[in-house]
Amino acid sequence: MSELRFRVVEKAFSKKPVSVDYPGERPDKFFAKNVFDREKMFRYLPKEAYNELINVIDNGAPLDRSIADAVAAGMKQWASENGVTHYTHWFQPLTGGTAEKHESFIEYNQKGGVMEEFSGKVLVQQEPDASSFPNGGIRNTFEARGYTAWDASSPVFIIDDTLCIPTIFISYTGESLDYKAPLLRALRAVDKAAVDVCRYFNADVRKVSAYLGIEQEYFLVDEDLCVARPDLLLTGRTLMGHESAKNQQLDDHYFGYIPQRVVAFMKDLEIRAIELGIPLKTRHNEVAPGQFELAPIYEECNLAVDHNMILMSLMRKVAAEHGFRVLLHEKPFKGINGSGKHCNWSLGTDTGTLLFAPGKTADDNLRFVTFVTNTLMAVYKHNGLLKASIMSATNAHRLGANEAPPAIISSFLGTQLSSMLDEVENSAEGISSTNKKKVRFDLPQIPEILVDTTDRNRTSPFAFTGNRFEFRAVGSEANCATAMIVLNSAVAEQLKRFKADVDALIKEGKTPHDAIMQVLRGYIKECKPIRFEGNGYSEEWKAEAARRGLDCETSCPVIFDNYLSESSIAMFEAVGVMTRKELEARNEVKWETYTKKLQIEARVLGDLAINHIIPVAKEYQDKLMDTVFKMNTVLGKCDAAKLGADNIRLIKEISEHTDYITENVEKMIEARKAANRIVSEREKAIAYHDTVESYFAGIRYHIDKLELIVDNRMWTLPKYRELLFI
Ligand code: ADP
Ligand code: MG
Repeated sequence: MSELRFRVVEKAFSKKPVSVDYPGERPDKFFAKNVFDREKMFRYLPKEAYNELINVIDNGAPLDRSIADAVAAGMKQWASENGVTHYTHWFQPLTGGTAEKHESFIEYNQKGGVMEEFSGKVLVQQEPDASSFPNGGIRNTFEARGYTAWDASSPVFIIDDTLCIPTIFISYTGESLDYKAPLLRALRAVDKAAVDVCRYFNADVRKVSAYLGIEQEYFLVDEDLCVARPDLLLTGRTLMGHESAKNQQLDDHYFGYIPQRVVAFMKDLEIRAIELGIPLKTRHNEVAPGQFELAPIYEECNLAVDHNMILMSLMRKVAAEHGFRVLLHEKPFKGINGSGKHCNWSLGTDTGTLLFAPGKTADDNLRFVTFVTNTLMAVYKHNGLLKASIMSATNAHRLGANEAPPAIISSFLGTQLSSMLDEVENSAEGISSTNKKKVRFDLPQIPEILVDTTDRNRTSPFAFTGNRFEFRAVGSEANCATAMIVLNSAVAEQLKRFKADVDALIKEGKTPHDAIMQVLRGYIKECKPIRFEGNGYSEEWKAEAARRGLDCETSCPVIFDNYLSESSIAMFEAVGVMTRKELEARNEVKWETYTKKLQIEARVLGDLAINHIIPVAKEYQDKLMDTVFKMNTVLGKCDAAKLGADNIRLIKEISEHTDYITENVEKMIEARKAANRIVSEREKAIAYHDTVESYFAGIRYHIDKLELIVDNRMWTLPKYRELLFI
């Protein structure tokens, strides 16, 4: 019966690494080979079109349609030289993945044949009939049109034979139906608000960019083994499976020797990522067996998000070519670490200053404290919303487990930065009028900071790490635009408030320096509850966080309510990122997606329990009963009862487990049916959380117990020890 399992395991463990040939050149030579970057724009575009396009990219100038044809012609020429036959508008719908609909370049030529054509019109805008994408009710049928429009700030790239054009996706009535449109608005908002604040310190600042460096964690599982696990295949995680005797206790996998098959995969992935202009830099083993991490060098936020989306697709593709499945799910295996996507976020000016980097002068440090404090204020005020931005049916399994941030947002600053804020908070006298001249840009109590980057706290969801904040709660599978939309919007709103507060004091006659100090002092006091330097995994922290008034909700569908609180809606509208209507529609999608994911898991769990587990358990039980029966015949009832006691105990245990499983799968199905009848997406999602998912752990527990009892030779599903050690 389990011959298939043994065959698959044997096959998996005898696979050799796929050999990967490096292109004949060094990476700096083939970097961005498949990207229509500036250097290619310069080569393929007429001078005027090139200059205009650069102005669009660098300064956010509106794209003049009159140059679109020239740009399209240049792109088309470059693409043709690279064997490209198709193009697609590439966008990021609310499914969380990416979407593409390929069109070939051919058009009728009026002479009975075809010719290749690619006009400015189709480069700039398209109307894909993408009516099946989730939209939360925004596109009811009479206005069902959705448009994709080119985002010129993210370069066009080639994958296989297709020219991919990054686009936003919006409805006929202008609402965004994707992640990119609100992200671009959030980035514009934070740019504007931060420039206004930067001007207190440096009048030359014209632009502030948000930067994002992503650390992507993932698992690799042998493809054949994965295919033998319907739960992994259909839900991305194992819904059952007893822990392996050895997993990550010894910490021997972390930063350890990378298995050869995996190195080959990584190398292949790196070459292809670099050709797409994705600057992959770091690769290593993560904590759990079978778990790895990669990180590109940080980039402008919009580009970094696009690159991460491209990279996730590329990982799946390259993994398949190496006989692997890549698991991006946040918690594919019970009992070992899950995966996150650490988002290293910072702000930087066009004059070359990283705003979260402390400087050498007191002036620099005041700027530094200003941006840090405003960020903390934003995170404090919108901590529930930030949590909602990273929450999903899949990430819910990871948060709160003892290896990932808890389901409470707090910020770790480290001793040095903490004491710096304390000093600013308590420096009322030292900085007031009499010493004003002297301390204007010379705050003796703020030392030159050599921020100690070893001062790390892995349990914090939002930690300061030297010149940036690291948002660690983001899920490995997520489009991290959701987190970046909220973070950048909230910081933009907060910086606007800061400027208003400071300007009001200046109007009253305070110097800019004193006004800034006074406002900061108030903020530092106000946002103190968000600062937490201790162990975020501890039970005490949960109690403490509740006392501080931080959002401690753990139910995913209820956490989504944060998007619709009046303070969230006011914030998004104030910075022009999303309207109430868009927010409401998006939440419908979030609840619906949540429900569907749980529905699929419940079905798979039920099917596997009834079709795989119970039959195998019963068959083994039958064998045991056979043995006892034969003992009876050969030895007589009395001896058999004594000598067969173990078997009899197992027979009873198996029945207890199978009875529990059958009964609870039945109940789970009933709960699902009841939940399915609920009309409101929110209530339905809550019902799935409270009344359906609540069966999963119990059913799993009894299945995992059976795995330990049933004869190994009969067990059909590959076990953890086989899945996890490549
Ligand atoms: P770790 O956090 O494990 O020490 P790294 O130092 O390699 O990891 O950094 C992780 C990510 O942070 C990388 O993508 C890196 O480019 C990025 N990063 C470094 N500095 C910044 C910054 N100022 N802003 C945004 N991302 C940054
Ligand atoms: Mg890091």
